[in-house]
Amino acid sequence: MKKNIRAIRGMNDYLPEETACWQRVEKILKNVLDSYGYSEIRLPIIEQTPLFQRAIGAVTDVVEKEMYTFTDRNGDNLSLRPEGTAGCVRAGIEHGLLYNQEKRLWYMGPMFRYERPQKGRYRQFHQIGAEVFGQRGPDVDAELIFLTARWWRALGIQKDVALELNSIGAMEARARYREAMIIFLRQHEDRLDEDCRRRMHTNPMRVLDTKNPDIQALLNDAPVLVNYCDNDSQAHFSRLCELLNLAGIPYTINPRLVRGLDYYNKTVFEWVTTRLGSQGTVCGGGRYDGLVEQLGGRATPAVGCAMGIERLILLVQTVNPDIAAETRADVYLVAEGEGLQSEVLRLAEQLRDTQPSLRLMTNYGGGSFKKQFGRADKHGARIALVLGEREAAAGQVVVKDLATGSQEIRAQNDVDTYLRSIFSSGKGYRESLHR
Ligand code: ATP
Ligand code: MG
Repeated sequence: MKKNIRAIRGMNDYLPEETACWQRVEKILKNVLDSYGYSEIRLPIIEQTPLFQRAIGAVTDVVEKEMYTFTDRNGDNLSLRPEGTAGCVRAGIEHGLLYNQEKRLWYMGPMFRYERPQKGRYRQFHQIGAEVFGQRGPDVDAELIFLTARWWRALGIQKDVALELNSIGAMEARARYREAMIIFLRQHEDRLDEDCRRRMHTNPMRVLDTKNPDIQALLNDAPVLVNYCDNDSQAHFSRLCELLNLAGIPYTINPRLVRGLDYYNKTVFEWVTTRLGSQGTVCGGGRYDGLVEQLGGRATPAVGCAMGIERLILLVQTVNPDIAAETRADVYLVAEGEGLQSEVLRLAEQLRDTQPSLRLMTNYGGGSFKKQFGRADKHGARIALVLGEREAAAGQVVVKDLATGSQEIRAQNDVDTYLRSIFSSGKGYRESLHR
């Protein structure tokens, strides 16, 4: 017997019971982005490999170990995108969106990284990201963080995420820091693992990313990046902290926070949670004032962030199961006998014309009233509309409130008024998060 073909390890199917939650969460995220004046940009999921090597940095985990890279039939070296910023900048330059302009953009979609799959870490995962081009002030960084904070409030998870903040300074400051780090790391070379020893020469700042606890302990005595920061970066950072204080957004300054991608400068931040085990970073971002120029565009300051949607959904499901609940039907239409099925379909279409926002399901496959009501319950319907021979002949329908059990007969032409009163008065499910 042939073995069934299965999905690729670390790449998930999202089944209807989960997609309902995804849709609700995505809608909330997009509404917030919209309220801050961001517009969507949609980008390919495959780009030329050198784009990621140049943007993210050749000596980073993402580029060294995690990219899905292949040669296509034409011999081109391509990669599945591991993140969204590089492609966004590439598109911005290509279409002349950035030079001398201000752009507030967001994107959403699958990203790919060859990592060991575990809870909150997959090989295909999804990110929603926001990028602002053309402004260098700390007020822009602050408002981006306000936006993310509003995401958490809208999703009811604000108590379960914490903001960590750092400044990694300008390129020049990092060059000086690099020298200091190499000197420090050389003194402790015997205690470094192979990865860190290699990085010590290629990209010593990346050693700060290490997950190795022994080396992390060693790093307590390492030079601190912020001490190497230029005045401009320090002033930028103080103003950002001030704006966060004024807005009442708590944060911790984490001097070791550097993020895993090379393009950042000045502000870096992460929203972390303790509720997802070691996959604790939900959202990360920062400034990348050099990237546009580095990729061939005219120098354009920028700041952005990206969030892993799987981790966000895991957190929402843990903290706020209300949002995670399955979608229910609002109305379920039941018929007395097969002969009335066409009448039921007609009535359902009529109601969808007048009330397009209701989730309205007709019963398929006949069955006794008991069976049909059982299905209405299974779909969580609030109201059942029951069409019997007598009602159909008289242009009427029985309206049954499945929450209270009460029922009444109404003219079919009058049902939409009744449904509107139920579903706009807060008594129905329309107003709850179940939709
Ligand atoms: P981590 O340290 O957990 O590997 P990262 O620093 O590599 O995260 P970023 O490149 O900053 O992550 O991506 C932003 C967000 O995307 C992360 O905070 C996380 O929520 C999500 N993310 C990153 N990699 C994965 C993955 N393999 N599976 C699921 N989500 C991911
Ligand atoms: Mg990673």
